[in-house]
Amino acid sequence: MFLTITTTGTPDRPATDLGFLLHKHPDRAQAFSTSYGTAHVLYPEADTERCTAALLLEVDAVALVRKGKGKGRGGAPDAALAQYVNDRPYAASSLLAVALSSVFSSAMRGVCNARPERAAEPLPLRIEVPALPARGGADVVRRLFEPLGWAVTAEPVPLDAEFPGWGDSRYVRLELESTKLTLADALRQLYVLLPVLDDAKHYWVADDEVDKLLRAGEGWLAEHPEQKLITSRYLSRRWSLTRQAMERLELVRLAETDDSEVEEIDNAVGAEGDAESEAGEKPTPLAVLRRDAVVDALKRASAARVLDLGCGQGQLVQALLKDPAFTEIVGVDVSMRALTIASRRLKLDRMGERQASRVKLFQGSLAYTDNRLKGYDAAVLSEVIEHLDLPRLPALEYAVFGAARPRTVLVTTPNVEYNVRWESLPAGHVRHGDHRFEWTREEFRAWAAGVAERHGYTVGFVAVGPDDPEVGPPTQMAVFDIGTVGTKTEKEAKAA
Ligand code: SAH
Repeated sequence: MFLTITTTGTPDRPATDLGFLLHKHPDRAQAFSTSYGTAHVLYPEADTERCTAALLLEVDAVALVRKGKGKGRGGAPDAALAQYVNDRPYAASSLLAVALSSVFSSAMRGVCNARPERAAEPLPLRIEVPALPARGGADVVRRLFEPLGWAVTAEPVPLDAEFPGWGDSRYVRLELESTKLTLADALRQLYVLLPVLDDAKHYWVADDEVDKLLRAGEGWLAEHPEQKLITSRYLSRRWSLTRQAMERLELVRLAETDDSEVEEIDNAVGAEGDAESEAGEKPTPLAVLRRDAVVDALKRASAARVLDLGCGQGQLVQALLKDPAFTEIVGVDVSMRALTIASRRLKLDRMGERQASRVKLFQGSLAYTDNRLKGYDAAVLSEVIEHLDLPRLPALEYAVFGAARPRTVLVTTPNVEYNVRWESLPAGHVRHGDHRFEWTREEFRAWAAGVAERHGYTVGFVAVGPDDPEVGPPTQMAVFDIGTVGTKTEKEAKAA
């Protein structure tokens, strides 16, 4: 199994920078042992004008079969893998993808301390894979790579060169060329698309495969026209996982088109409050009032370990970090882009060890139960529920109140009655393009009371922002606590 990556350069941008980007020195041949054999990295050519890195994977077919059998869950998914003689040692496939991700893991993440500016910019790239198993042939290869900006050459490899009458094998010789992609993008695309083309994954698909796929697919998969084919093949046609991945990609798309509006409307609120406040005094934006109200309620509840569910770009996480009373802060969001911005805002990569040990960010959907969310003192859902379609709300309710079950849950959401107080908001409009609903005070209270009843919590309400005598406050907050008397167990709550 063999893959080469070539770039070209000039004296001020030498091609040999590829060595820095890949974190592998062009003058040395290096070997790395992986679970399925040995991966070699070497440079057949390395000068200023042109540099090629080759990844050669020597697969240990016996280890591969033993591993498949040893898993105890039925062994390898591909019947061909159950034999000691199979094509894995010769074909580029999912094993090559695994080798890519283990040998070039920093490059895949776009990390390069020696040449950070080059890691961030597109470079001329040429990728060659002499024998790539491709189910669906050259046509599928083009459909997968061309939308990403690659010029694709995919030539079917004949079954036997001396007997053309035998027809083509299931292999193609692949060449990709592009000047539009960063090396990290290119590697993450190969990491996903090589196994997708092979369509015979050698290890069992576990739940975290969805996370892996979305991480590697960041920035290109959500908009890919063949997203469904990619997702279902990558997840070995496990439909529940495929559905979950597709849904999360949909949310990524929505979050990416819309979340700039959040700040805009919040600032507009500040401006409007201006009219009422003393002349010359700068009004506090609603987002800040909301954050203060949340922090205040968390302190009242003596919460130390806190989940920020739907943390967005991390403003609340940042505020909580400043207060040592909060010993562990976990931000969860479905949008990778939001999390990337959050991690930049928090300067996670430059944080001291002690500070870094207090904070964690991870991607997840609140519409699914998630064991990582169990055991916390409190969870915050700040301006999140209105981003879910109403029929999905019971799933979030169960994931948070039924499964994760923090002692305290804070939920904030817009009060739609207040919208008439906003001059900038046309009548009948919600505050944000992605709001699926906005509730009156009565609607919110009815929902919250139902949740409390179903899951054994008590609930109280707090007004956030100026509490208008007629239409109430701009933001409404519910504070749920696990009731001490007559608390239902998780099982009883589920049965109810
Ligand atoms: N809590 C932040 C952000 C609110 S915007 C604040 O108060 O400012 C809503 C956030 O919820 C977005 O970042 C969006 O990506 C996230 N979100 C929407 N649906 C989600 C879901 N099903 N699972 C996790 N996060 C979700």
